[in-house]
Amino acid sequence: MIKNRVSLKSLNTFSLRVYADYVIKVYTEGDLLIFWNRFVQKGYSVLILGRGSNVLFLEDYCGVILLNRIKGIDLHEDKYYWYLHVCSGELWHELVVYSLKNNMPGLENLALIPGCVGAAPIQNIGAYGVELQKFCEYVDILNLDIGEKIRFTVDECQFGYRYSIFMEQFKFNYVIVAVGLKLSKTWRPVLNYIGLDKLNINSVTPVGIFNAVCIMRQYKLPDPLVFGNAGSFFKNPVINCALMDDLLNDYPDMPCFFYKQNLVKLSAGWLIENCNLSVSTCGYASIYKKQSLILININQQATAGEIVTLAGRIYEKVMDYFHISLEPEVRFIADFGEIDSVQLLSTGKKVLRK
Ligand SMILES: Cc1cc2nc3c(=O)[nH]c(=O)nc-3n(C[C@H](O)[C@H](O)[C@H](O)COP(=O)(O)OP(=O)(O)OC[C@H]3O[C@@H](n4cnc5c(N)ncnc54)[C@H](O)[C@@H]3O)c2cc1C
Repeated sequence: MIKNRVSLKSLNTFSLRVYADYVIKVYTEGDLLIFWNRFVQKGYSVLILGRGSNVLFLEDYCGVILLNRIKGIDLHEDKYYWYLHVCSGELWHELVVYSLKNNMPGLENLALIPGCVGAAPIQNIGAYGVELQKFCEYVDILNLDIGEKIRFTVDECQFGYRYSIFMEQFKFNYVIVAVGLKLSKTWRPVLNYIGLDKLNINSVTPVGIFNAVCIMRQYKLPDPLVFGNAGSFFKNPVINCALMDDLLNDYPDMPCFFYKQNLVKLSAGWLIENCNLSVSTCGYASIYKKQSLILININQQATAGEIVTLAGRIYEKVMDYFHISLEPEVRFIADFGEIDSVQLLSTGKKVLRK
């Protein structure tokens, strides 16, 4: 088979100049199976990609990229809920707009998150005090090896902060093909996040929250078309309360937020700003000035190596200074598949994730 060499620059929001052997847009579940079987049988690595807004390609991908473009939304309702069965290639933000236009509130805090619906459950997308899990009823996956569809209930998804079972299991042989959402007909605004807390709880509307979120995001976050990026590069670390008490003795103004039971969440942005990092750039890679959790590609000229070097320096400094290990939120994709990002940043070794 003759290989193509397809540019991925417009297919990853970091805008990195990398290539794959093949890129194929897939519009149906049947095609997913056909292309998967065809290429896997020939010994190719295969990667499923939505909109490339949570990946860092470290180098050219030696294999086939299947772009998920499976579309469609089914809707039904009862007295209490609207139920949406959303195919995984739909765009998340367009789904938020669609739900509000059809007077089904709930998703407004999650406006303007880039990417496909199918990727949303993987890291349980979240913003402005709300996470996907609040609305998720089920996730349908297609096991590509056996061609069987399986439904995960919300409990089986094991959602947590930027976490679900889909980060652990079936790594290379499943695709999320649809997500079931359940929106309550009793709407309650969520306004506890900084910025939204100024809105009047008695008069605010879902569209009012949507607009406020869009304005804040457009102000605070870099536009990937101007500065390539993948949103927050690192997760906010979750630590236990005893360790937090120790840290507060040394750093009384270190912010922390209750997570659950005995656990608190730290601000990775604050750790980065306060770890005595001497430089904030590496070549064309830089920490974004308005939000230090975001690494950007200046003039879309950075190499993956520059971004990794900068991320590695941040990782090392935060570790040296606070003894806290930052974990990337962005998924690192090497020549034959996803690698363990913490291993790469801490030891320089590329270890395939299994
Ligand atoms: C400017 C900006 C702002 C962002 N803000 C937020 C935010 O506020 N909150 C937040 O949570 N995230 C945020 N993100 C991250 C990103 O938008 C989300 O993680 C999004 O869900 C990724 O969707 P995608 O389609 O681009 O996934 P991709 O980047 O294409 O894929 C991500 C990973 O999921 C896998 N994958 C994708 N689709 C499927 C599928 N159907 N089945 C199986 N595996 C699949 C891929 O192989 C890859 O490993 C932001 C990103 C950017 C660029």
